Amino acid sequence: MKRNIFLAFLLFWMGLFTASAHTVEEHARIPAHGFAVMAEGGEFQPYTFSRHAVGDNEIQIEILYAGICHSDLHHVASDWGKEEYPLVPGHEIVGRVVKIGKNVTKFKVGDIAGVGCLVNACGECEFCLMGLEQYCPNRVLTYHDHDKYHDNEQTQGGYSDTLVVSQNFAIKVPENADIEKIAPLLCAGITTWSPIHYMNVKKGDKIGIAGFGGLGHMAVKYAVALGAEVTVFDITEAKREDAKRMGAVRYVNVTNPEELNGLDNSLNYVLSTVPAKYDPAMYMKMLKINGQMAIVGLPAIKNMPSISVLSFVIHGNRKVFGSQIGGIKETQEMLDYSVAHNLYPEVEVIKADAAAINEAYKKVQAGEVKFRYVIDMKTLKHAD
Ligand code: NDP
Ligand code: ZN
Repeated sequence: MKRNIFLAFLLFWMGLFTASAHTVEEHARIPAHGFAVMAEGGEFQPYTFSRHAVGDNEIQIEILYAGICHSDLHHVASDWGKEEYPLVPGHEIVGRVVKIGKNVTKFKVGDIAGVGCLVNACGECEFCLMGLEQYCPNRVLTYHDHDKYHDNEQTQGGYSDTLVVSQNFAIKVPENADIEKIAPLLCAGITTWSPIHYMNVKKGDKIGIAGFGGLGHMAVKYAVALGAEVTVFDITEAKREDAKRMGAVRYVNVTNPEELNGLDNSLNYVLSTVPAKYDPAMYMKMLKINGQMAIVGLPAIKNMPSISVLSFVIHGNRKVFGSQIGGIKETQEMLDYSVAHNLYPEVEVIKADAAAINEAYKKVQAGEVKFRYVIDMKTLKHAD
């Protein structure tokens, strides 16, 4: 009898101990390894940090690939205002789900998930309720932000081996997708898809795509798929044939002024992805009456273009507007459509290595990438 009481006692304490060990483990921060710049304009170096534990509505993914967006270059250089360093960029992310919180229904362990520029938002404001979480005043960006829902911790991006994200902000990636090419869809894809659909571009419409890089080449693919007649504008000869190959009817090298002759008042739509100083009014003039120009390219503050009020009046009855990425529902639609119609970015895959990322940055800056670098995070080596 005494022995039984002792055993019951022992089992009780063992149970308590295991339960509390379990709780400690559940709440422990998750180690993460990746690449950061330590100061403005710095080079990448290996960096170890941690992520918050997986919450009840969150998933943890093992990152497989991360795209290099020109916005990452802008952030590294503090082009849009002083950033906080160390900075781990990356908002074009695809990975495998390795852990799920107890309320997660959207994913199971082993699924493939995509993450773009957002990891959370309030879910209650008018923007969230309209599916425009990117404009939520309480949104949390994947990196260069502070997470209001997790003790205001600094967020760090996808040039790393693991990420924790709310299930509502992770995108389901179909099983048959070409995983190596998925990541850039999460920013370059949605940022061009969204204004193209907002403007209601359709078969036979004439659209100009300004800037033929990571975003621009996806814009060309989406517009061509919709049956639009696409004119591409860029500053290099090296991409003329690529534009034709992707289905554009015309390629304009804007550094040759004669190539612009006859284009005024000829386009229904323009989508500008230009990341450098340029003259937006030049494109505004190309719009027909009732034409629309969407601006997504965001140059550094020191190179920020502007449009004079005079241009708006002289070239009146045309609309110019800006657009930021896209909402979560729309991102899922874009991804499903892209996979179903085989509309993938053209990518160059590089190793998860600081020297390789530094080299890639130089090439993006010099306009020498066709069309998106993607870091293969599976090749990451770390000491511990
Ligand atoms: P890339 O560098 O991949 O592409 C930019 C392209 O624009 C390049 O082909 C470049 O030519 C070309 N270009 C440069 N100057 C001119 C010019 N004066 N006229 C025409 N073309 C020009 O950049 P991304 O596509 O990744 O990003 C583009 C911009 O969009 C960036 O500013 C980025 O921050 C922004 N962005 C905005 C988002 C939003 O939500 N609104 C989301 C994601 C990105 P070359 O290569 O020869 O230099
Ligand atoms: Zn981006």
